[in-house]
Amino acid sequence: MKTDFSMTIHGQAVAGTRGTFKVLNPATEETVALCPSGSPEQVDQAVAAAAEAFKTWQYSTDATRVAALNAIADKFEQHAAELAEIITLEQGKPLALARFEVGGAVAWTRYTASLGVPVEVIEDSDVRLAELHRKPLGVVGSITPWNWPLMIAVWHVMPALRTGNTVVVKPSSMTPLNTLRMVELMNECLPAGVINVITGEGGIGSSIVKHEGIRKIVFTGSTPTGQTIMRNAADNMKRLTLELGGNDAGIVLPDADIDKLAPAIFQTAFLNMGQTCAALKRLYVHESQYDALVEKLAEMARAQKVGPGMEEGVTFGPVQNRDQFDLVSELVEDARQNGARIVTGGERIGDKGYFYAPTIVADIADGTRLVDEEQFGPVLPVIRYSDVEDALRRANDNPNGLGGSVWGSDIDKARAIASRLECGTAWINNHAEVLPHCPFGGSKMSGFGVEFGQDGLLEYTQSQLLNINRG
Ligand code: NAD
Repeated sequence: MKTDFSMTIHGQAVAGTRGTFKVLNPATEETVALCPSGSPEQVDQAVAAAAEAFKTWQYSTDATRVAALNAIADKFEQHAAELAEIITLEQGKPLALARFEVGGAVAWTRYTASLGVPVEVIEDSDVRLAELHRKPLGVVGSITPWNWPLMIAVWHVMPALRTGNTVVVKPSSMTPLNTLRMVELMNECLPAGVINVITGEGGIGSSIVKHEGIRKIVFTGSTPTGQTIMRNAADNMKRLTLELGGNDAGIVLPDADIDKLAPAIFQTAFLNMGQTCAALKRLYVHESQYDALVEKLAEMARAQKVGPGMEEGVTFGPVQNRDQFDLVSELVEDARQNGARIVTGGERIGDKGYFYAPTIVADIADGTRLVDEEQFGPVLPVIRYSDVEDALRRANDNPNGLGGSVWGSDIDKARAIASRLECGTAWINNHAEVLPHCPFGGSKMSGFGVEFGQDGLLEYTQSQLLNINRG
């Protein structure tokens, strides 16, 4: 893997004027590489470069943008092995999952290329022609988290470019390297300044959010940071897409075929070691199937091969960073002290790296921190219920509203419950599935705005009505 990483501003490789900081491998706690530490002045330079590039890019033809995005997808494919390795080393996930992430980045890029920006004719009469056009906004600031760093950067950046905006992206300081490489590769397919990247350990995100030259912020991360961003974006009325935290509930109905569904329940709760915004984070199970399902999930947890993501055969990696590891440990300890049963896991594995055993917690109820708060890690609380209406009420009794799911054999019954979940996506017999053509976003404290599909694309545009008088 290459070890010299640079920021990209106006098409040039740039070092940080504040030196460098270390990026750690969560499997070993050793340094993967040094990352440039940028400054607020370099944010100014990046925004100026993006603003300059916008003057031309906003008028580029559809064909130019489609060709650029497809060329970028080709580049990602050519460098797939390298990108996956960087992701595993700095993020921690098993290499197979990192390859899946790169594959997703390619697929999303190609799909976004295939979308179009329509002109809608609203009235075409003797009196007037009224057309609704969609124009790019200008410079978009993208701020990303550490869980699916490449995929989420692609989710932000591609629709922005496809609609004629230019971008300054800032990755999480926990996992910045793959984004630095992504932008370097993209830069080979785009005019200088269309995409720029700044990294740093503190204050860079808020410099971007407050910058007068930026017209929109697309942010994926925690709810408290989203709230700060919303406050700081007010001065020049920035557009916002906020994809924030979740505490998704799943409800297993009495008629669910748990033999068939248990693997999908496990997979969607523990996807990426549970560090997925729309992972299943609280599971409500009817008392008639409770003990059997708890045991099946525990069996699957025990069967995981936990270890460094680069090792052959490993199915489960470390938690990404020390703070998140400490939070997961704290929530499980709190549950234990409040009488919950740790069916399996509940402890650190080894003494190096942030490995936490895949954990199933039973005999736990709402009112416990592990149920009420987002754990964002490898632990699933399983809650017993006897009345479906009560389970639905408890599922909705949470400030978050990203996703939710219902698991059952009678689809009409499951649909009736799912439609009453307070969340942006309701799945039946599945969870956490996101697709490039299906709009995805949160409700309540999980944010607003959507990504993906036509609706997601239009979030990067400003409508302009053209009204031609024919009278
Ligand atoms: P975080 O909020 O700590 O950080 C996210 C990004 O924001 C990082 O790049 C960080 O440097 C930056 N940042 C921090 N403070 C800032 C500020 N004041 N102004 C501007 N930027 C700032 O989140 P995280 O810990 O990296 O990610 C985990 C969280 O993200 C979880 O809550 C998870 O549910 C959520 N998430 C949501 C989605 C979604 O689509 N809804 C997807 C992935 C993750």
